[in-house]
Amino acid sequence: AGHVNARDVSIAFTSRGTTVQAVKSVSINVQPGEFVSIIGPSGCGKSTLMNAVAGFTPINSGVLTLDGKTIDGPGADRGVVFQQYSLFPWMTVRKNVEFGLKMQGMSAAQRESQARTLLGLAGLLAFENHYPSQLSGGMRQRVGIVRALATSPQVLLMDEPFGALDAQTRTVMQEILTNMWQRLRLSVLFITHDIEEGIFLSDRIYVMTARPGRVKAEIVVPLPRPRK
Ligand code: ADP
Ligand code: ADP
Repeated sequence: AGHVNARDVSIAFTSRGTTVQAVKSVSINVQPGEFVSIIGPSGCGKSTLMNAVAGFTPINSGVLTLDGKTIDGPGADRGVVFQQYSLFPWMTVRKNVEFGLKMQGMSAAQRESQARTLLGLAGLLAFENHYPSQLSGGMRQRVGIVRALATSPQVLLMDEPFGALDAQTRTVMQEILTNMWQRLRLSVLFITHDIEEGIFLSDRIYVMTARPGRVKAEIVVPLPRPRK
């Protein structure tokens, strides 16, 4: 599972009598196991749309579902990663990853095992007892991804996760993400303004126009990557 469907979704923000139409009649979908990117100029509504899928922002009209159920708030079925990692600085890497599992009431032994498996996939096992401040930016963002994946979400939502990283670190992160996605077989909705990054990572790309954000084109990336 992990099927995201948005049909004719519009989202507007109103404050002090002024209305900003951020997203207008957008229809997109992510099939189970698919990696889909959204690209478009700054301010075109990419983050707003993703925040709606995350359940952080309500939609004004249209239909937005995950596996056929209307999205009306955040849930453990969706993992979220933002551009700025938001790890708890007072917790070690492993405790950060275990946090969501603890909330779900998983036993200490199970949490540790789950966290260590994912940290291993991300090449971070040697750093499980480090604190975020002891890690490079790329490694912190990697921990952020692992934390988002810890609760076994159906969908991973990523908003310019590598935007703050240098080009070399970015390339490494893209490869790690591709590997994790192939192994875990989850659906990914990924925001970027880098078309090259979108093509490297995605099965499909939606191109949005400047405000009000609409879907202008859909690119099916012609070269399928091998899946393990
Ligand atoms: P993008 O992610 O493509 O850069 P955003 O989704 O962040 O675009 O923003 C789309 C539009 O909606 C912009 O004009 C932005 O200023 C506006 N917007 C986003 N969030 C809010 C908000 N909470 N209140 C008012 N306007 C907002
Ligand atoms: P990234 O590419 O993840 O941003 P860097 O390029 O900064 O990481 O570091 C490359 C490698 O150096 C890391 O994969 C790690 O093995 C090692 N390293 C980075 N920071 C630390 C640290 N604080 N302690 C020990 N080793 C580190």
